[in-house]
Amino acid sequence: MPAQKSSPKAETENTWVPFYVPSTDRREEREVIEAIRSGWLTSGPKVKLFEQKVCEYTGARHAVAVNSCTAAMHVALGAAGVGKGDEVITSPYTFAATGEAILYVGARPVFADIDPVTLNIDPEQVQRAITRKTRAIIPVHMAGLACAMDAILPMARRGRIRVIEDAAHAFGTSWNGRRVGAIGDATCFSFYATKNLTTGEGGMLTTDDAKLAEKARRLSLHGLSHGAWNRYSRAGSWRYDVVDLGFKYNMTDPAAGLGLAQLAKFDAMQRRRRGLARSYERMLAPMGAFDLPVESARGTHAWHLYIIRIKPRVLKIGRDKMIDELRERGIGTSVHFQPLHLFSYYRKTFGYRKGAYPVTERESARAISLPFYPSLSRQAQERVVEVIEDVVMRHRR
Ligand SMILES: *Cc1c(COP(=O)(O)O)cnc(C)c1O
Repeated sequence: MPAQKSSPKAETENTWVPFYVPSTDRREEREVIEAIRSGWLTSGPKVKLFEQKVCEYTGARHAVAVNSCTAAMHVALGAAGVGKGDEVITSPYTFAATGEAILYVGARPVFADIDPVTLNIDPEQVQRAITRKTRAIIPVHMAGLACAMDAILPMARRGRIRVIEDAAHAFGTSWNGRRVGAIGDATCFSFYATKNLTTGEGGMLTTDDAKLAEKARRLSLHGLSHGAWNRYSRAGSWRYDVVDLGFKYNMTDPAAGLGLAQLAKFDAMQRRRRGLARSYERMLAPMGAFDLPVESARGTHAWHLYIIRIKPRVLKIGRDKMIDELRERGIGTSVHFQPLHLFSYYRKTFGYRKGAYPVTERESARAISLPFYPSLSRQAQERVVEVIEDVVMRHRR
């Protein structure tokens, strides 16, 4: 999130249309107050209930609540036994977290370039990246559009490779009649402040594999044989063993309270996002200056982000200049994502250069994420479009 002088909510009242505003109301406030008054400030009954509700919503058998999607991916890889000397294939068109989780377990991130239409990992490129060392694939469901799982899953099965999904954008996405969360070997959700369901900071791992869930849960809390619930509740015991080298990733009850309130109104928020996506499409398509997000006949889109891409054949203005012009005219935007392999850490560590993943580089360089959240008013959205239209008029070739 960009640095903000005043709160995102206060800024909507002026002429600034922020890139993101969280959708919180009395329900979230009530849940958090209830958590505080209950005395459960760490992982307690609200975390348990939130996990249960996420299982019900996604159709997954097990859910492990953690404090970020990064943590969920880390413990999912750890629980799947991925480690030193292994390779994990993922998209270079993603957030830093995906690469980090792979590096945390000592494995090597191997990138496979994306499909230029969906911005999702290209199964043909995945196939070419598979070696004898490949132990996992992490598809990233960009902006909330599911990856081509029908191609990726059989490839993985053939090579005894685990599929661990980065579903940071995809809570609520369904694919082929199933919800993301109940498709791959493990799915990792983000409930970060800007995501389409938020707990402030938070994440969740879902899986049908009881062993993987149990191990991931242990890794998320110091490798202890018993969590807080088992230690501090009346039926609990003070004695525990440390059976693994674990981490400190557990979700708190106030955070889970936020998640419960968000989940209760999630379908309504998603309807609003879908409506906003349709209006953007209706208003922006006639300009002919941008490639707009696509949907899939195989499932639904979670519409976490609305990413437009400048057509360089139509507009003379580049992405960076356009972002500056939008900001000057009161429109907040963001970029999802800068190519992961071109950050200095990755260049230094793995020797990547420009041109290594040309589709990712080309698409990233023309991508802008527009203001997009349930509370974005019709007037605010129209203002965004008006300003864009003006930029288009002044910079057409
Ligand atoms: C936000 C995000 C993450 C990280 O989520 P956290 O909950 O902040 O750890 C991972 N992957 C992608 C694609 C994201 O957008």
